[in-house]
Amino acid sequence: MAPIIQYEEYFGENCENCKHYGVWDNGVLKIPCMNCAMDGIPGGSRDHCHHNWNWRWNGVTCYGSSGNGRERTLEEVFEHALMFIQERQIDVNEVVQKFIPEQHVNQFTHWISTDE
Ligand SMILES: [Zn+2]
Repeated sequence: MAPIIQYEEYFGENCENCKHYGVWDNGVLKIPCMNCAMDGIPGGSRDHCHHNWNWRWNGVTCYGSSGNGRERTLEEVFEHALMFIQERQIDVNEVVQKFIPEQHVNQFTHWISTDE
């Protein structure tokens, strides 16, 4: 069996995704990758649904960066989640639990219900 990956070793400054997609300022990670933003804390509950996740970075709400030099907007968070529903045929509830911050779940479900 493959070894269990210890995510906390790859969090933030040590995370390959953050190195590629994060926003850096003079060697300081300002905005992490979306996974680390979801996690919020090293060794967080990434294996569980988002209700245990944090969506925070340096004490403030953070949606993470997908590599264009800035934090994702909430709409980009929604679009990313929608992509999983459309392209990977993942159940809406599962996607909501994994990719939508808890405080925006109602907004997201309304958003996808009006998306043409
Ligand atoms: Zn990361």
